[in-house]
Amino acid sequence: MRGQPEHVLVIGAGLGGLRTVEHLRSSGFQGRISLVGAEVHAPYDRPPLSKQLLTGHWEAERVALSTVEALDELGVRTYLGMRAVALRPGAVELADGASLHGDAVVIATGLVPRTLPGQPAHVHTLRTLDDALALRATLERVGSLLGGSLLVVGGGFIGAEVASAARARGIAVTVLEALPVPSARALGTELGALAARLLVEGGVDLRTAVGLTSFVDAGDRVAVALSDGSAVEADAAVVGIGGAPQLEWLGDRVDTTDGLACGPTGRVCGLDAVWAVGDVAAWEDTTTGTRHRSEHWTNAGDQAAAVACDILGAEPPPAPVPYFWSDQFGLKIQLVGRPERADNMLPLHGDGPDGGAVRGTVAGYLAGDHLVAVAAFGAARLIARYRPLVADGADRAAVLRTAAGIRPPGAGRGTNGAGPARPRPRPPP
Ligand SMILES: Cc1cc2nc3c(=O)[nH]c(=O)nc-3n(C[C@H](O)[C@H](O)[C@H](O)COP(=O)(O)OP(=O)(O)OC[C@H]3O[C@@H](n4cnc5c(N)ncnc54)[C@H](O)[C@@H]3O)c2cc1C
Repeated sequence: MRGQPEHVLVIGAGLGGLRTVEHLRSSGFQGRISLVGAEVHAPYDRPPLSKQLLTGHWEAERVALSTVEALDELGVRTYLGMRAVALRPGAVELADGASLHGDAVVIATGLVPRTLPGQPAHVHTLRTLDDALALRATLERVGSLLGGSLLVVGGGFIGAEVASAARARGIAVTVLEALPVPSARALGTELGALAARLLVEGGVDLRTAVGLTSFVDAGDRVAVALSDGSAVEADAAVVGIGGAPQLEWLGDRVDTTDGLACGPTGRVCGLDAVWAVGDVAAWEDTTTGTRHRSEHWTNAGDQAAAVACDILGAEPPPAPVPYFWSDQFGLKIQLVGRPERADNMLPLHGDGPDGGAVRGTVAGYLAGDHLVAVAAFGAARLIARYRPLVADGADRAAVLRTAAGIRPPGAGRGTNGAGPARPRPRPPP
């Protein structure tokens, strides 16, 4: 491809695909754009699927991010309910046998939920709007039973949000987590323990460090055998053990070992004029020289903006600070930065790690002496103060000065979990 393309093909009509076409147009691109999506729905938002939609506070219409008409007005031709099945140089083949020809391709095909061996068909997973509506119908049914119960396999953020929605409906919930604490990969062991407390304090029967060995035939119900010799039976079950990038349609022409290997502006390695954004894309991180794949909402939009610039030959926007949130048990968990780079922790506010209230706890993640991430539990205003420090990689002394200078809401009213924490070293996450 020389100069600007004539026709951009965007494969995957989720968040990353939608934001890519929007950024192309808002950056002045006047060529043709086609958006191909395997689902029949116009682009919609996934975070509410495990939150407002599942609790029944929102109906399906509210998760819409765009419509076919709005995309049409943007000059974007949509192919919905149409799966891409192969990528050829300058063309994408669709499931109905048609080929779309374009001189730039953006891959934004997201994840497919992982399942367990022998998983019965009536056990739910949660990735799409249709998945969420099916799970909501099950929660409505189980919630109407006397003593209705739900088994959630996987205590990560989605599993915890499903557990929270089910508890709000009065359902007895058991969560199985293979690691010693839930969300350990995202939060680290020490703050993962706070995520565990949210589940337990929310009335969940949390079983950690235990694996599911098999599903046992239980008719319409679900029964499982566990690695510690025990068993669990419930009226319904959800498996939330993460997802795998949807890349099988690319065949073996590219490295998809952990997502689609890309350069620092999203260009897919080994392919000409092909970019990738969102949950599928493992972009090169120029500061570490390693590849990193993120499954977070803001990342999909940030990468879409950078890819649109790169396609148009414009300067990419400055690298943003990664951000993630999860809403569970009436509290927002927020994470700014890259905790996986940390080797030690620094408590900043609240005393959740010492057994106090989880709400109001804020902790920093340091790599050596430098701040690489901050996590907060129900402390949105506090974490906002640390975002610039994460962006700058501020040193420990600067972080502690900021913590000492913040008078958090409720300070001086006894221990409510938001007062400045005693600075002391913590083990790595
Ligand atoms: C239930 C749930 C809750 C979440 N909550 C949060 C949250 O609280 N905070 C947060 O930061 N992130 C959250 N996320 C993650 C966030 O939604 C994702 O990071 C984001 O949607 C990624 O966008 P994407 O475009 O990469 O993938 P997606 O939004 O999944 O879009 C990919 C699209 O591509 C389509 N597709 C796949 N294969 C093909 C093909 N071969 N041809 C054509 N189309 C194809 C898929 O059908 C899908 O519609 C949540 C995700 C889920 C599932």
